[in-house]
Amino acid sequence: MSAPLIELVGVKKTYPGPPEVHALRDVTLTIRPNEMVAVIGSSGSGKSTLLNIMGLLDQPSTGTVKITGRDVGTLCERDRDCLRASRIGFVFQSFHLVGHLTSIENVTLPLIHQNWARHERRQRAVAALTTVGLGHRLHALPASLSGGEQQRVAVARGVVHDPAIVLCDEPTGNLDRENTAAVLALLRDLVTPERAVVIVTHEREVWESADRLIRVVDGCVTS
Ligand code: ADP
Ligand code: MG
Repeated sequence: MSAPLIELVGVKKTYPGPPEVHALRDVTLTIRPNEMVAVIGSSGSGKSTLLNIMGLLDQPSTGTVKITGRDVGTLCERDRDCLRASRIGFVFQSFHLVGHLTSIENVTLPLIHQNWARHERRQRAVAALTTVGLGHRLHALPASLSGGEQQRVAVARGVVHDPAIVLCDEPTGNLDRENTAAVLALLRDLVTPERAVVIVTHEREVWESADRLIRVVDGCVTS
């Protein structure tokens, strides 16, 4: 069995109050390459908190987080940022594109911290946008794109730096059925023997196409 990409052991997250919120109570889980995992659960159950901790956007109150075998708790902030920038890609519900930047400029953003020449960054971004079917909208601003197209740009940005882990928080939450199916197919194609895709969702269509479900109930993982 391939080595885990994400390992959480005894992870708890309490947001300080008042009132204190126990968002994650005692979460232990493993994500391996070559799988598409759906994280499901009702609103407020702790899904986004879990995803943010997996993505090193937030830290647990207690417990261990390992990303590609490295114990994140032992890293300084700079090394944690480096690990996130190189190994993790994100796709959010509301796309989070930078409004005054074109598609290609948005997709190039995750490459800024990589040590590549400008033309290499551009080449990569063009390839990623072509893969999501937007090779003809390289210079479009987000406002001139449909919601489905904007999310495809966001998927290209989430994967342009070839991360081992792609984390998606309700990626189809703002899309109609047709665009949901298209984005879902793109996310499915991102799964490789080197990479896992984790999708927080409450949509049946999305979680039914996952390889595995992680169910979050009141801050606990139950499956
Ligand atoms: P979900 O994504 O499943 O809707 P969240 O992870 O966003 O759930 O939230 C879990 C719980 O933690 C909720 O009760 C929410 O109100 C609370 N929460 C989330 N973020 C914060 C925060 N920054 N400060 C305080 N409470 C928070
Ligand atoms: Mg959420």
